[in-house]
Amino acid sequence: MTTSHYIAGHWVEGQGSDCISVNDPALGQPFAELMAASVSQVDQAVAAARSALPAWKSTCASERAAFLRGFAEQLGQRREALVALQMRNNGKPRHEAEIDLDDAIATFGYYAELAEQLPSKNRTVPLAAPGFTARTRLEPVGVVGLIVPWNFPLVTSAWKLAPALAAGCTVVLKPSEVTPLIEQAYGQIADALGLPAGVLNIVNGKAETGAALSNHNGLDKLSFTGSNSVGSQVMRSASAQCRPVTLELGGKSAIVVFDDCDVDQAVEWIVAGISWNAGQMCSATSRLLVQDGIADALLPRLQAVLENLRVGNPLTEEVDMGPLTSQAQWLKVASYFATARGEGLQCLAGGHALDREGWFVSPTLYTDVPKDSRLWTEEIFGPVLCARRFATEEQAIAEANDSRFGLVATVCSADLERAERVADALEVGHVWINSVQAVFVETSWGGTKGSGIGRELGPWGLSAYQSVKHVTRCLG
Ligand code: NAD
Repeated sequence: MTTSHYIAGHWVEGQGSDCISVNDPALGQPFAELMAASVSQVDQAVAAARSALPAWKSTCASERAAFLRGFAEQLGQRREALVALQMRNNGKPRHEAEIDLDDAIATFGYYAELAEQLPSKNRTVPLAAPGFTARTRLEPVGVVGLIVPWNFPLVTSAWKLAPALAAGCTVVLKPSEVTPLIEQAYGQIADALGLPAGVLNIVNGKAETGAALSNHNGLDKLSFTGSNSVGSQVMRSASAQCRPVTLELGGKSAIVVFDDCDVDQAVEWIVAGISWNAGQMCSATSRLLVQDGIADALLPRLQAVLENLRVGNPLTEEVDMGPLTSQAQWLKVASYFATARGEGLQCLAGGHALDREGWFVSPTLYTDVPKDSRLWTEEIFGPVLCARRFATEEQAIAEANDSRFGLVATVCSADLERAERVADALEVGHVWINSVQAVFVETSWGGTKGSGIGRELGPWGLSAYQSVKHVTRCLG
């Protein structure tokens, strides 16, 4: 049993009614347990954040930057333990767990820099009208609730925590019940750095704890990353209180491959976009649009590469892909395999769970998937790729945009002018040209349409935790 809630600078036992099992998905077995936070502990966390706010928002930005640099350094010092824990609890291959840690470190470093630049953003506004001066103040939004999923636990939390603390907000973080131990590192680091009590609070729990936080009337904003179904509940609680909300939701993103591509290179990008993190990425490029002229050469090659991926336990084997992270996700992906069989889809690779202990599925490819298939339209969140052929650039753009989601897309073409033109026409938040899943902290993250509201990362990620105030003075 682990003590896992960090409230007002103290580690406390959970007093909720849910017992949370922390699992090793490669074995399908628990390795730790903890009690969820109770509703009254969520109240205590919000109250602690509220009482810490006046002092924290008055610190000078360079002091907050020093804490953020401390987070980056201390994450690096905990590298081996954090990589091992992500491998064990998420089932991530080592190199992916390393990338996540490096991403979190880069995020804290970047927002330390932006925090240092904050004083220069509070500046005089030139006015056309005579007789007045005006100045801008960028103020912290206040007490912020942060609710995150399990697929990139260190990263999704860093993308919220670092800009929120940089802006001068105080926070209550609720990690996913699937990966509740990993983000404890942020509490331990806060302790080690002497971050003032209450600036960062962590409450663990399932839906009940998340709902207690998102419904809490002591928050000034809520930032949520997760599924569309929970996101819409979170938006309802924000609307009930007329309070701002950021939503980073699901995706069903396209990868468009034109016939001037090198086949092997295109296959490498396609496979990475669907097999990293066992396809459990909001940004998985799970809809492959392949041009007629290259499809017959590319699809058999893609089939062979998918079939030869090494799938196994990252802690004991050299693997390209680990298990799915939870049993619920494994059952969900298996249900899509059954749907595909029911729909009579043509399966070129995989299409089944692996016959071994743990929550493994085979990398899967369906071809000529009808546009109205559930597998083409719904987010599966596993290594399941659906392919369709296209003839013209216009058709590719129309099919890629024909989705209720709009998170990301990848465009593969040797004709860079065309690739840029297609990128401009895609209705998504981020497009990769001849690359895959490359997320830099300076660029934005977030989607259009059903993929959410708002942006993380870059200066936009900081703005999400700032309120703009102007002070206008009459000179007369
Ligand atoms: P989820 O929506 O089930 O859970 C997300 C978080 O919400 C968890 O902490 C959970 O405990 C909490 N929660 C559950 N019920 C709640 C409620 N009623 N009120 C408040 N909180 C509640 O999502 P998940 O399965 O953890 O993650 C997978 C989803 O996250 C996918 O849809 C994926 O696309 C999305 N995601 C999006 C991004 C992005 O940046 N757009 C990044 C990662 C994951």
